[in-house]
Amino acid sequence: MTRKYNFSAGPAGLPDEVLLQAQQELLDWQGKGLSIMEMSHRSDEFVAVAEQAEQDLRELMAVPDNYRVLFLQGGATGQFAMIPLNLLGENGKADYINTGVWSSKAIKEARLYGDIHVAGSTEADNFSSVPAQAELALRSDAAYLHYTPNETIGGVAYDYIPDSGEVPLVADYSSSILSEPLDVSRFGLIYAGAQKNIGPAGLTVVIIREDLLGNARPGTPTMLDYQPHAKAGSMLNTPPTFGWYLAGLVFQWLKRQGGVTAMAECNRRKAGKLYDFVDRSAFYANPVAVANRSLMNVPFTLADDKLDALFLQQSEAAGLLNLQGHRSVGGMRASLYNAVPEAAVDALIDFMAEFERTQG
Ligand SMILES: *Cc1c(COP(=O)(O)O)cnc(C)c1O
Repeated sequence: MTRKYNFSAGPAGLPDEVLLQAQQELLDWQGKGLSIMEMSHRSDEFVAVAEQAEQDLRELMAVPDNYRVLFLQGGATGQFAMIPLNLLGENGKADYINTGVWSSKAIKEARLYGDIHVAGSTEADNFSSVPAQAELALRSDAAYLHYTPNETIGGVAYDYIPDSGEVPLVADYSSSILSEPLDVSRFGLIYAGAQKNIGPAGLTVVIIREDLLGNARPGTPTMLDYQPHAKAGSMLNTPPTFGWYLAGLVFQWLKRQGGVTAMAECNRRKAGKLYDFVDRSAFYANPVAVANRSLMNVPFTLADDKLDALFLQQSEAAGLLNLQGHRSVGGMRASLYNAVPEAAVDALIDFMAEFERTQG
């Protein structure tokens, strides 16, 4: 068996240790004679797995007691609708900051439901930075302010948490959750599709302040109302049990690594090496403002895009997978989520140096 280095933006690589444990337990989970995915979600066994996962996530993120953690489905894209349906309230107003593909999609979806104001945008500079706090045109009567801390496609990240005053702050943490310590109390709601930094696709994690529950607009489908999910312990219907279990294994792995503080240190080192290399090279380039460079997703271009296909072909042959940039922007992208080991980044840099030497 050869595990190659996987730089996929999502679904992304998982830690070997986690996959091995899942493999070992697959046919006979803890001596019960069946797989965890063949068990009732209402069984004592699965409920214990689910509760442990929530407890570990709470511990990892230091989630305050007045927040609920929900394990849902529908991806981050489902949240683009659930958020306005649940939080817009009577006046129907919300502010959004636009920093790239994912925030644009969130804005487009929210516009189906209310009066959505773009409080800040870096579209004019091709989404290569984020707006400064002072540039935000916030409405004090907005029901919430939505932003995307890490734009997975553009590789653009905030270097600050927007101050929205009394207005609840809502953040799409799909591609950077658990990558560094976070003060959850600054937020009204945090959400993340699992397939980047948590586990397999099919699970969506929502962390919501309790006072924001129970305000869904009339006519909201029950499945899209946070309140019934919270009341039912995220078992309103059959949850994605295998994804939930695997997420739990990832949380335990993260704790063994030293939690998010240790991950942040490692993530800074990994991304730092790659950006330094790109900056020193005259062959590779990254267009993002230095202060807003993502630690999770590192896009880069080659001096001659006619070499892109060869780069991808040779990198794959060298065991470096999924370096192709998003179809909307082209170029390359190396995603360096928690599960990507530092050795993968070293191998990538060695390959890039050699490619530049032979082709540059
Ligand atoms: C991947 C991603 C999404 C979309 O997630 P789905 O689970 O596919 O809906 C949304 N926002 C961000 C920031 C992402 O990285």
